[in-house]
Amino acid sequence: MKRIGVLTSGGDSPGMNAAIRAVVRKGIYHDLEVYGIYNGYAGLISGNIKKLELGSVGDIIHRGGTMLHSARCLEFKTPEGQQKGIEQLKKFGIEGLVVIGGDGSFQGAKKLSEQGYPTIGVPGTIDNDIPGTDFTIGFDTALNTIIDAIDKIRDTATSHERTYIIEVMGRDAGDLALWAGLADGAETILIPEEDHKMDQVVQKLQRGHERGKKHSIIIVAEGCGSGVDVAKEIERLSDFETRVTVLGHIQRGGSPTAFDRVLASRLGAQAVELLLEGKAGRTVGIENNKLVDYDITEVLSRKHSIDKQMYKLSQELSI
Ligand code: ADP
Repeated sequence: MKRIGVLTSGGDSPGMNAAIRAVVRKGIYHDLEVYGIYNGYAGLISGNIKKLELGSVGDIIHRGGTMLHSARCLEFKTPEGQQKGIEQLKKFGIEGLVVIGGDGSFQGAKKLSEQGYPTIGVPGTIDNDIPGTDFTIGFDTALNTIIDAIDKIRDTATSHERTYIIEVMGRDAGDLALWAGLADGAETILIPEEDHKMDQVVQKLQRGHERGKKHSIIIVAEGCGSGVDVAKEIERLSDFETRVTVLGHIQRGGSPTAFDRVLASRLGAQAVELLLEGKAGRTVGIENNKLVDYDITEVLSRKHSIDKQMYKLSQELSI
């Protein structure tokens, strides 16, 4: 193998740049030429492809976002779109591809692999919702951004007697909400993987109030409905005054944490290692802090689940 490519796709996540850097540097270390594909699969189809030198990935390890930019590309979901992508790769003499992104991006990588094109998936998403790895690139940074925001809200919360509802990202996965709830001692965590009864949420608020609690914090993953709806329901069922904060896209941005930079460096480099070993159609990840890789079809057939023990613990600690 002489030439490999790298692209970022789907929602960006902090640490993607560190992963790109690792792919480029590890590739060049092994005498490969590394090409950057800009704007995800859209750039793959249109041939927005440029050679990346050692210096082109200098000074990016600490930056959020992705220097290769990202895009959503419907055309790539069609066999014709995928064929156009493979033709571009062949035109540039690129023999293997590293795709950094979430499960949608992995679907695209799977299709390329099925058509015989060597592709490795690197999990980059703040949601931490990809099987085959304990952590995805960007999760830790997003989590710390949430904690920072909640700490600030908590400061003002202590001055007023109110219920603070904080909506965090996570359409299908409650990891951000769960970890943030544990890390910040939230009274209630609402995640899509668990059923919730609002009257029980209100009863818990009431118990806290009777014990003299001045304020409460409820974290809602967006997959459970909006924070505004949760607030309305609480006010309908009780006399508690609520305030809602929707953290939104600030959760995606910012300088990656040390954890995400190290994770991204390890996973990006490992993807290159696999291509050099002649492996294809794999995803990389870490489990128990050891590098692992799995068949991409198998990974996509598995369903991400939250850590039930952690969820139970969050309930035990917030009685
Ligand atoms: P994420 O990777 O963050 O989950 P998306 O779900 O938006 O983000 O997927 C990113 C891109 O991956 C899509 O815009 C599309 O180009 C490609 N993609 C998603 N699903 C498929 C699929 N089933 N087949 C081929 N490509 C896909």
